[in-house]
Amino acid sequence: MRRIGLLWSCLLGLTVILRAAPADLNPIAASYVKLALALGGHDGDYVDAYFGPAEWRTAAQVEKLPLARIKENAGALRTGLGAMNTSGFTALDLLRREYLVKQLRAMAARVEMLEGRKFTFDEESSLVFDAVAPVNSAAHFDAILGELEKALPGPGPLAARVQAYRNQFVIPPDKVDAVFRAAIAAARERTLRHIALPANESFTVEYVTGKPWGGYNWYQGNFHSLIQVNTELPIYIDRAVDLAAHEGYPGHHVYNALLEKNLLRDRGWVEFSVYALFSPQSLIAEGSANYGVDVAFPGAERVAFERDVLFPLAGLDPAKAAGYYHFLDLLKALGFAGNEAARRYLNGEIKADETVAWLTHYAFQEPVRAQRSIRFYDQYRSYVINYNLGRKMVEDYVERRAAGDPERRWQEFKDLISSPRLPSGLK
Ligand SMILES: [Zn+2]
Repeated sequence: MRRIGLLWSCLLGLTVILRAAPADLNPIAASYVKLALALGGHDGDYVDAYFGPAEWRTAAQVEKLPLARIKENAGALRTGLGAMNTSGFTALDLLRREYLVKQLRAMAARVEMLEGRKFTFDEESSLVFDAVAPVNSAAHFDAILGELEKALPGPGPLAARVQAYRNQFVIPPDKVDAVFRAAIAAARERTLRHIALPANESFTVEYVTGKPWGGYNWYQGNFHSLIQVNTELPIYIDRAVDLAAHEGYPGHHVYNALLEKNLLRDRGWVEFSVYALFSPQSLIAEGSANYGVDVAFPGAERVAFERDVLFPLAGLDPAKAAGYYHFLDLLKALGFAGNEAARRYLNGEIKADETVAWLTHYAFQEPVRAQRSIRFYDQYRSYVINYNLGRKMVEDYVERRAAGDPERRWQEFKDLISSPRLPSGLK
């Protein structure tokens, strides 16, 4: 009886232990990273950053897992996640599990695309980026153009007038570096007032040409970023703060550094040692980077900084700063026009020359810039929604929670970019 009693109490103890120890996500997380590295061997754009164990990358390069096996293994991991006993999971554990499910779903879809499967634009963005952009008709954009006609009256096509006006605000090439560095310093200083960053965080800036994008942050791990700025086309003055905040502070550089610090290092969540470009994480990354511009430089503060610091550095007339930013506010309503161009072009509804015409007419991109947009669509496809839809989703989420309080806005923003929350979790 005593022995039975002892056995019984041991069994009870075991039951308590089993109940208290939640299922372990770490093995699946490690497998996810290895599969992402394997897919990187088939798709040069897929692994945007990796700073996990070097031997995992080497092993992936040696093993050369075929696409079919990557998809199969990704499916098996998702099945494992779905069947997992989540009792004892915290809210953060549940977000983590959901993150892995959606990242793996996107991975499988990307594999299918590489195998030749053609998704529609919306199917693809739903699977890969966990979101679908609203559809806007030409009539919707025509109405906005009508408003702009009133704001910028004059002879000739509206797009030409817009272009002529914007040309006054190009940064002279020999001033780009000084202007950009001043913008980064200000963005960093504003961010550090609200978000603590690892003491050794740092970045390098390089100027490049021949790329389908305007700027890029290549996160290197250990809290270091390589920020590249494409100088092949004229750079308007507003791009300085946009790029500084988007690529740097509180955008990509801060996002990656916080994930590395809070999730990879402090919690040991190894899935955050890899950044898969074609995945839902990218909508949060781009959306928060774009919205971060406004968090760091809200409305009138931005105009004052441009007028007092950047315009003089660029040799532009500070008296024109307020008018220019008012004009840019009007253009924001056309922000989704690029999505329509990409959707129609990638769905095969319009050809490249018609896409250029659409972008020239509705997004005021001069033909050479529109050509660059098409190169972007060809390479990154529905990724384009991450910038404008992502920005709107992040903004709505943060503003709803911050309720107009500037300090809470920073905190909600910081919490979001320190978490595994994905687009469908922003509701
Ligand atoms: Zn970006």
